[in-house]
Amino acid sequence: MNTDCIFCKIVHGKMPSSIVCEDEKAMAFMDIAPVAKGHVLVIPRVHYDPITATPDDVLAHLIGVVKQVAQAQVKALGANGINVSQANGRCAGQLVPHIHFHVIPRSDGDNKQMKWVSGSYADNDEMASYAENIRAAL
Ligand code: 5GP
Ligand code: ZN
Repeated sequence: MNTDCIFCKIVHGKMPSSIVCEDEKAMAFMDIAPVAKGHVLVIPRVHYDPITATPDDVLAHLIGVVKQVAQAQVKALGANGINVSQANGRCAGQLVPHIHFHVIPRSDGDNKQMKWVSGSYADNDEMASYAENIRAAL
């Protein structure tokens, strides 16, 4: 447990939360400041951060829980769509540095603003050079 971490405190019952489901590896609980009502956070019980330092088996398990929560949001809340979001680092908008997935139920006409502002490359060569850099690091 990371003693400075809010989500570790939730896992260990030192802070209250509204739990949706839990198992030996993961917990899903309500976000206290929901983007939309029914917004759930899915986290591992063990403190990992960021995604690049999180073991593959933990990530695989978390995404399975994300899917179950999304299915329940569709069934229980009548969501027409779901946003799944996961931030790493302050520059990416992460506030709590314990890996978590946001699972946000969406409805037609809910007027939530979660749009990326699309950019562009100078040309295809520039895009190809970014692809080559990433490919070379894999
Ligand atoms: P991030 O910006 O790190 O991706 O998202 C962190 C999320 O944690 C935010 O949506 C925020 O509302 C939520 N959050 C912060 N503190 C608490 C808390 O004490 N309890 C719960 N349930 N959610 C929290
Ligand atoms: Zn933690």
